[in-house]
Amino acid sequence: MKLSEHFNSSEFACKCGCGGMDNGAGVNPKLVQVLERMRQYIGKPLVLSCAYRCPAHNAEVGGVSNSQHVFGTAADVQLPEGMTVDELAQVAEKCGADGIGWYTWGVHVDVRGYAARW
Ligand SMILES: [Zn+2]
Ligand SMILES: [Zn+2]
Repeated sequence: MKLSEHFNSSEFACKCGCGGMDNGAGVNPKLVQVLERMRQYIGKPLVLSCAYRCPAHNAEVGGVSNSQHVFGTAADVQLPEGMTVDELAQVAEKCGADGIGWYTWGVHVDVRGYAARW
């Protein structure tokens, strides 16, 4: 199901194969909005390495139990070619992300309702 101009609900589904949120239900609309703004700002496809995680899969990948991923409010965005992690994080900031995490593979963004940076 199309959630925004460039994002489909399947991109937000749990990667463990449980089918969690693959119909788009439960994916936070504000998260989709932030990612869509980032996509349009950058002008290149954004690959989500992970968005929703069911509690079992979250535990499996070592996520903290109250991870935003479990609530459908977070996505891990892979670094697009030609960008640095700092640049991608700046775009996330401009596009209204609440939580932003810097990683070697890219940036974690979430819409937890208050600012968090790590
Ligand atoms: Zn799952
Ligand atoms: Zn994350």
